[in-house]
Formats: sequence, C-alpha cells, structure tokens
Amino acid sequence: EESTSRGGLVHELLERALGDVADAEDELGRLDAVAGDGDHGQGIVRGLRAAVRAADHAGSDAADPRSIGDALLAAGTALADAAGGASGALYGTLLSQTGAGLREHATVDTAVLAEAVREASRAVAELGGSARGDKTLLDALEPFAEELAECSRAGTELPNALTAAAEVATKAAQDTARLTSARGRASRLGGHDQGTADPGATSLALLLGAVAAGVSD
Ligand code: ADP
Ligand code: MG
Ligand code: MG
Repeated sequence: EESTSRGGLVHELLERALGDVADAEDELGRLDAVAGDGDHGQGIVRGLRAAVRAADHAGSDAADPRSIGDALLAAGTALADAAGGASGALYGTLLSQTGAGLREHATVDTAVLAEAVREASRAVAELGGSARGDKTLLDALEPFAEELAECSRAGTELPNALTAAAEVATKAAQDTARLTSARGRASRLGGHDQGTADPGATSLALLLGAVAAGVSD
C-alpha cells in the first residue's frame, strides 16, 4: 500500500466532516443503542477515517470535477469496507454515486450537484429498501436533495445552496425523533424509539453541515 498524500478538496471536506462526526461519536452510539446495537458512532468514525485516507491518496482539485468524482468514488469504497454495517454500505453508496454523477461534468455548480445527489439518494433508497418516514438516514438525505434542487431552480450559487440544504437536513434529522423505526429491533419494540433521533440521519446531517461549511470558507 502506497502512502502518497495528495490532499485536495474532497480530502479537506471529509476531514472536516470526520472532525464533527468524531466529536459526536459517543452520542451517535447512544442514539443507536435506543433501537439498534449501539455501534453507529464507532462504525461511522472508522469509515470516515478510511474515507479521509482514500481521498488524500486519490487527490482532488476544485477546478477538475473528474478528480473530485474519482476521489469521492475512492472514499465511498473505502468507507463501506471499513465501516461495515448497514450504514457503511449506504454511506459508501452515497459518496460513490455522488462522485459518479459529478465526474462527467466540466464544472460543479448547484444544478450538477443537485442532480448527482438526487441520483445518489435514489441509489441509497434502493440499496436499503427503505423510504422516507422509515426513520433512517433517508429522512435527512431526501430533504437535503430536494432543497438543492429548489436552490438550483432559484439560481442559488453552490456555497449558499449547500448551506441552505444542510440546514434543512439538520432540521429533518432532528425531526426523525417524532418517527418510529420501521426496521430492525425498534419496529418490534412498538415505538420504543420515539423521542430520540435516528443515528444515521444525525451523523449524515453533521457530515453535510461540515461539507457546506468547508465549501463556504
Ligand atoms: P448497523 O445497523 O448495521 O449496526 P449502523 O449502526 O452503523 O449500522 O447504522 C444504523 C443507521 O443506518 C440507522 O440509523 C439508519 O439511518 C441507517 N440504516 C440502517 N438500515 C437502513 C436501511 N435499510 N435503509 C436506510 N438506512 C438504514
Ligand atoms: Mg448499529
Ligand atoms: Mg451493527
């Protein structure tokens, strides 16, 4: 394994996301323990660490969408391998499919990102066999994708669009506390998880907020 460090935009953004998610690692574990097995904090931090390393190794240049796409593809694959679990595969698909949607474009603007995220969100829903309202990370991801599309229609520049969409995702993740999990142990506990947010939606909102802040800086 070669240990080349090329850094670049994707590496920078994922490192920022890792920082915020790692700060919440224990809390994410507690949220997952309500209805799941309590490992979400550990799993997603391990996955993001691997994603950061892969993005650093791949390198990426803000002015070169192909390099951004390739770094996201590498990061998604590494995340899925390292994190394991349901969320590892879903997060990995999100990063990789977003990368695949960006790499053919000459520039990354709000419209291009909105379309890539929409397609990635569909892939995540298909892989998980879940829909909005099931109390999963889709309950943060789909509102995020919709707000990006709305911003694209309104002609909002990318940094502001990402900031607005990340705020929507954060609110939507908090709102998952009102839902009852449709899958896994919680569905058999008869609403036992009402009042606490979904761990996957919570970590995803942290990641999206960090990416928005990084792109706006
Ligand atoms: P595991 O459930 O394998 O222990 P994690 O604890 O890391 O994995 O992740 C749990 C999170 O993954 C949940 O909070 C939810 O957001 C997401 N998740 C789990 N299963 C699905 C699914 N089938 N579809 C969408 N998201 C899911
Ligand atoms: Mg778990
Ligand atoms: Mg698990």
